[in-house]
Amino acid sequence: MRPVLFTAQSVDDITPHMRRVTFSGDGVRAYLAENAIPNIKILLPDTSGKYGVPELDDPSSTAVTDVRTVPGLLGRVRTYTVRSFDVDAGTLAIDFVLHGDEGIASAWAHRAKSGTILCAAGGGGRSIGDAEHYLIAGDETGLPAIGAILEKLPSSARGSAFVEVANRDEIQDLVKPDGIELHWLSRDDAPAGTTTLLVDAVAQFPLEPETFAWVSAESGQVVTIRKYLRAQGVPRRSMLVIGYWRRGLSENGYAKAADHDRDLKEYDSDKHGHGHGHGHGHGVAATLAAAWASFIHSARHALAALRARLRR
Ligand SMILES: Cc1cc2nc3c(=O)[nH]c(=O)nc-3n(C[C@H](O)[C@H](O)[C@H](O)COP(=O)(O)OP(=O)(O)OC[C@H]3O[C@@H](n4cnc5c(N)ncnc54)[C@H](O)[C@@H]3O)c2cc1C
Repeated sequence: MRPVLFTAQSVDDITPHMRRVTFSGDGVRAYLAENAIPNIKILLPDTSGKYGVPELDDPSSTAVTDVRTVPGLLGRVRTYTVRSFDVDAGTLAIDFVLHGDEGIASAWAHRAKSGTILCAAGGGGRSIGDAEHYLIAGDETGLPAIGAILEKLPSSARGSAFVEVANRDEIQDLVKPDGIELHWLSRDDAPAGTTTLLVDAVAQFPLEPETFAWVSAESGQVVTIRKYLRAQGVPRRSMLVIGYWRRGLSENGYAKAADHDRDLKEYDSDKHGHGHGHGHGHGVAATLAAAWASFIHSARHALAALRARLRR
């Protein structure tokens, strides 16, 4: 899509390290017309305040730049979640984790105030699948998506959501269906991406044949959880398990290390056999084991459906 400029309308600290920036203006309306959700690609300005995009830096320019295909710009592109939007009001909110000034997006959010401009360069991606039972897990970077997901799940949804946060001051009020249990996992101020809280919580969770697993957090935890879910026989169609950041790497460095762009390929790294530290070197035995586990899961699924039908 054509890059557009958003204007910050309000800046609110939801918790000490989660800052909500609500944008408005013609740029937001243009963005929402493209229906580019649930994720948004933002382009941060360079140190001189310029974007390096002709049509943004010079309003008289007629250029149309696809920011995501210009290598020189990718170092300043970051991925966020559209926490909420209102087409009629022409507003869109993003929740930024404030993790210090080492990251350009976090630093931008630290300084954002009403009237600050930000470039939206595209968006899209997949959201949670339809299911009867859910396993939802994420750290603070996944929390905006979890908040948006829980608000939209049907009231009949069952399962659990696990959210890892820095400490108990980071707990938010979330709207959710009664059948979803919400568990806050506090790191007690340990650095993000250094604990096994989410991995342990997922390992304790009673999976059902019809469970859909949605997981987003630091890459290391996500890789472990994905392997675990596969070993349990959860089929690929029943999971969306994505690394949202990698400790020690900028987003651009992470994308390079993972060997592909998660957004353009709709995060479906399995299809391409690479990325996110998995999919490499699976031998025949591993493939057969995964196929067998998937078969068992499907058989359990069919059996559960049959039992439910017989009960009616
Ligand atoms: C689909 C998707 C949706 C996302 N949605 C959100 C969202 O709604 N809100 C949100 O805050 N993040 C979200 N993220 C994560 C966000 O894109 C990354 O955290 C990103 O690296 C932040 O960019 P930055 O410029 O601040 O830091 P970068 O320049 O990318 O990284 C600089 C350094 O900071 C570290 N770092 C990055 N993020 C964190 C963190 N959260 N805590 C501690 N250290 C960190 C890196 O490891 C690196 O060492 C999402 C990611 C994806 C893929």
